[in-house]
Amino acid sequence: MTSTWTERYQHSMMNTFGPPKLTLVKGAGAHVWDVDGKEYVDLLGGIAVNALGHAHPAVVSAVTEQLQTLGHVSNFFATEPQLALAEKLLALLDGGPGKVFFTNSGTEANEAAFKLTRRTGRTHVVAAQQGFHGRTMGALALTSKAAYREPFEPLPGDVTFVPFGDEQALADAVTDRTAAILLEPIQGEAGVNVAPEGYLAAARRIADTHGALLWLDEIQSGMGRTGRWFAHHAHDVTPDVVTVAKGLGGGFPIGACLALGHAGELLQPGNHGTTFGGNPVACAAALAVVATLEADEVLEHVTVLGQKLRDGLAADPRVTEVRGEGLLIGLTLSEDSAAEVFASAMAAGFIVNNPTADRIRLAPPLVLTDDDAAAFLAAWPTILDGAFS
Ligand SMILES: *Cc1c(COP(=O)(O)O)cnc(C)c1O
Repeated sequence: MTSTWTERYQHSMMNTFGPPKLTLVKGAGAHVWDVDGKEYVDLLGGIAVNALGHAHPAVVSAVTEQLQTLGHVSNFFATEPQLALAEKLLALLDGGPGKVFFTNSGTEANEAAFKLTRRTGRTHVVAAQQGFHGRTMGALALTSKAAYREPFEPLPGDVTFVPFGDEQALADAVTDRTAAILLEPIQGEAGVNVAPEGYLAAARRIADTHGALLWLDEIQSGMGRTGRWFAHHAHDVTPDVVTVAKGLGGGFPIGACLALGHAGELLQPGNHGTTFGGNPVACAAALAVVATLEADEVLEHVTVLGQKLRDGLAADPRVTEVRGEGLLIGLTLSEDSAAEVFASAMAAGFIVNNPTADRIRLAPPLVLTDDDAAAFLAAWPTILDGAFS
């Protein structure tokens, strides 16, 4: 069965992602099934997207009911779910008055934010090495990885990349012509690099000194992923701009650019737009995700279970470092065997991710059960046995 699907994929899909690892047919909670009927515990969660796992009834019914009521209207018109979600996100952000622009993806949230920074009258942006901000031309201009950028240069922008976590390098790079500092509180795609203590607060001070905006990309780290609504809530810092997507819709495509205070007024009529962004179905999905996370006290669960997983995984000597917060977890292996660990885990019925040669990333559904986590920890030494030479 799988080979037929692989062949069809190769014949009809652009080869941007390489051959698919599996063809999946259904999911429930943190479990997914492939075309051959094999079951997996999904510890990647669609790359930090499936906050409530797969086929959560709250999302299914919110989307179904909204689609049966009003599915799309364009941005000439407002809808109730969109207003409720904007208000809710600003309340969760807890940084005072602000404004929201809705999008359909993470990279589009960053495009909106990038355009917003241009309205300061400045063009220079300082971003971090190993950061990831998306694949559209603007977001790509802010992403440092040469292999992603170089085939598409020239890219828009006037961007300086500094080593992540280095306060002095940031202070040296930012000037009075800098529009914004862009940082992820936790760099997800790099294999989970956590901002050192005090770094984001330093970025805030440096931005203020030069009249620049502080823009935090929380597309992966936000919406409860770290056990807090936003990862930067662990730091004493109020940003000007925050971008979110991934977990926001629990699998339904939606992103948002949130801007606080004056930053919320920078984009004016005619400056930006989107046909689908903020459509009521996507907003209803996101409202259902947030309401469920709140009602079921999922953030507390994320904090406790994340710690348990990190402790358990670190107990094996072939793991040399464990990073992350909540259920965004990065492991460094003692050998460059991340691809083998991915394959060995899959054979054992667990989906993990290998963002670099020696790193494993876990970003499971926030509703991952204690039993599923325990099963993974029990299998972990055997998974490593199957991967290490
Ligand atoms: C995934 C990601 C993006 C891009 O989001 P897409 O929805 O894939 O466009 C941007 N920034 C960060 C930090 C991400 O993790």
